[in-house]
Amino acid sequence: MKDVLIIIGTRPEAIKMAPVIRRMSESSILRPRVCSTGQHREMLAQAFAAFDIAPEFELRLMTRGQSLAALSGRLFNTMDALLEERRPWCVLVQGDTTSVMIAALCAFYRHIPVGHVEAGLRSGNLQQPFPEELNRRVATLATRFHFAPTPTAADNLRREGVPESRIHITGNTIVDALLYMREGIRDAPPPLPPAMEALLRKGLSYVLVTVHRRELGAEGLQHICNALRTLARRHPDLFFVYPVHLNPRIREHVRAELGNIANILLIPPLGYKEFLRAMDAALFIMSDSGGVQEEAPSLNKQVLVLREVTERPEAVEAGFCRLVGAQEERILQAAEELLAQERSGIPSRSTPFGDGHAAARITTVLERAAQASPEEYP
Ligand code: UDP
Repeated sequence: MKDVLIIIGTRPEAIKMAPVIRRMSESSILRPRVCSTGQHREMLAQAFAAFDIAPEFELRLMTRGQSLAALSGRLFNTMDALLEERRPWCVLVQGDTTSVMIAALCAFYRHIPVGHVEAGLRSGNLQQPFPEELNRRVATLATRFHFAPTPTAADNLRREGVPESRIHITGNTIVDALLYMREGIRDAPPPLPPAMEALLRKGLSYVLVTVHRRELGAEGLQHICNALRTLARRHPDLFFVYPVHLNPRIREHVRAELGNIANILLIPPLGYKEFLRAMDAALFIMSDSGGVQEEAPSLNKQVLVLREVTERPEAVEAGFCRLVGAQEERILQAAEELLAQERSGIPSRSTPFGDGHAAARITTVLERAAQASPEEYP
C-alpha cells in the first residue's frame, strides 16, 4: 500500500475531498492519510462530521489575526516536518488556499508527486479572489497530476504549458459529495434552526445568503448589507436567511448592520447536510462562495454572485449564476429581476460540473501511477 497524504484546511476542502477519501479507502493500492491544517476549525469539524471523517494529523496553525506570510512560514515548517516523518508516496491537495500552495511546494522540494484536485480554475485577476488566484497558479507549477473539473479548466492548464498527459478531466468532486448527501436529505431532512423550520412549515419564501471573501473588504460588505436591508424593507413577506461565516471581521459587521430586522435571519454556519437542505428550499441564493456556484446547478437554483469576476464561467454560461459584484445598486437591480423571473418560473437545466464520478476517476489515475515507475506515470 502507498500512502497518499491528503491536506485539508477549510470547510470546502473537506467537503470536496470527502468523496476522494471515501473512494480511496476502498483501494487495495492506496491508503488515504488525512491531515487537517485547521484554518476554520469549527466549520471544518462540521464538514468532517457530515462525512464521518476523522483526520489522522491535526496541525494547529491558526492564530487570530495572523498575516498570510506568518501563516505561510508556520505551514512551511510544520508541513515539511510531517513529510519528513511520514514520507508519503503522494500529496493530494484541493483548491486554492494558502495551505494548498505551501503543501504543494513542500512536496515539490522533496520530490514527492503532487495531485491537485480542482486544478486549472482561473479568474485571470491576481487580486480576485485574493490570494487564491496566486495560490492556485503556484500550486499548478508544483503539481504532477492535474485533476481538472471541467474542459475549461483543462484549457487553462494547457495555455500555461501543462503537458496533456498530466491533465485529467474528472468533473468536480462537489457533485459527488452533493449526490451522496442528497438522497439522505430528501429521505430524512436534517433539522434546521427553529426559525427556519418555522418558515418552511408556513410555506414562506426565503433567499439564502452567504458572504466570506477576503477581497470584499469593509466597503463591499457594507454595500451587501445595505442591499439586503433595502430588499428586506421592500419585500416584507420575503425572508433572507444568512448563515454568517465565523470570520470575526464578517460576523461583527453583519451582526451590527442586520441584527435587528424582522425578515432577516442571521444564523450560525450550517452543517453540510443542513446547508444543502437550506439551498434546496431557497427561492434563490446570493453568495460570493465558489462551492455554492458549483452546487447550485445540481439543485437547479439561481445564484447572484457577489463578485466582480468568477473562475467558474461554466455556471454563468449554463445560466445558473449571474455576476453582480458588490455594488448596492447592481445587487438591488439583479435581485429584483430575479424575483420577477422566479415568479414566472425558470426552466431546469443540467449541471456543467460533472456526473458524480470524479472521486473514482482521481483514485484510478493515482492507483495506476502508484503501480508504475515515475517515468511511466500516466
Ligand atoms: N456550506 C456549509 N454551511 C454553510 C455555508 C456553506 O456547509 O453554512 C458549504 C457549501 O455547501 C459549500 C461550501 O460550504 O460546499 C462553500 O464554502 P465557502 O463558501 O466557505 O468557501 P468557497 O467555496 O468560497 O471556497
